[in-house]
Amino acid sequence: MTARIIDGKTAAAELRGKAADAVHRLRRDQGIVPGIAVVLVGEDPASSVYVRNKSKAVAEAGMHAFDRKLPASTSEAELLALIAELNADPAVNGILVQLPLPKRIDAQKVIEAIDPAKDVDGFHPINVGRLSIGLPGLVPCTPMGCVLLAKMIRASLAGLETVVVGRSNIVGKPVAQLLLAENCTVTIAHSKTSDLPAVCRRADLLVAAIGKPEFVRGDWIKQGATVIDVGINRVPGEGGKHRIVGDIAYAEASRVAGAITPVPGGVGPMTIACLLLNTLRAACMQNGLPPPQS
Ligand code: NAP
Repeated sequence: MTARIIDGKTAAAELRGKAADAVHRLRRDQGIVPGIAVVLVGEDPASSVYVRNKSKAVAEAGMHAFDRKLPASTSEAELLALIAELNADPAVNGILVQLPLPKRIDAQKVIEAIDPAKDVDGFHPINVGRLSIGLPGLVPCTPMGCVLLAKMIRASLAGLETVVVGRSNIVGKPVAQLLLAENCTVTIAHSKTSDLPAVCRRADLLVAAIGKPEFVRGDWIKQGATVIDVGINRVPGEGGKHRIVGDIAYAEASRVAGAITPVPGGVGPMTIACLLLNTLRAACMQNGLPPPQS
């Protein structure tokens, strides 16, 4: 068996196109242009690339990008003052603070300072709580992308035996909540799980968010399962260069799985597309309009 490749690049391009159409309609019919402020503290090269890509996608979708680049020496008080300013600015519908922050700044304090209605990362405890009790809110982008990709294989995920490996606040836990809301039977596995291979083998739908290169082997995967690989790991490649691999041993897994996301080109591109959807959703909600369907 050779697994169907779940093409996140194409899916994300479609979503971005839909977001751009919705932005166009919002501007034409309501005179509203959604805006997002992406805040970057310091010069971390990976974060700078993410922020650049996010801002480019925001502009391409016809939204306003209010980039705020702050020096690495920025104090927690200065960052909190900027968040307060952005919370109060009606042109800013979404606020994203790029993580990680310098160690001196309490990231949780910063997340909790963001107006939950503008929290397009979905990390504020209010949005986390709303997701866990099934109320509408803003949900984290990468988990939303995982679920949209899984639904490309089966429109309904109801009843699927699902295993999520990883329990981080930004990926594992929210993806598990979203899958529960889709009526999956969800197991969350982590570093203390006993006999992880056997747990994974139960899964009709397996999501790996671990951060360990090619950790999940082909013989951990149930025949025909749908496999969503969130991992982004840099490993040494040919000629002293680096290459990116996921948390799943892709070549082995694609001989057993029914469908699988590649790395790169799977979950990664969906994250930015879902950020656009969240910003659009936030803009609609703040203006008393029904949120667009994703
Ligand atoms: P994280 O905060 O480090 O969490 C990793 C999780 O994996 C933890 O819950 C940990 O368990 C679990 N884990 C670690 N070793 C394990 C083992 N040996 N067996 C079973 N579980 C194990 O990572 P994260 O932020 O969730 O990110 C996970 C991966 O996704 C990373 O590669 C990251 O780069 C990638 N990522 C991709 C995107 C995207 O846009 N595609 C977005 C975010 C993250 P414990 O809780 O027990 O320690």
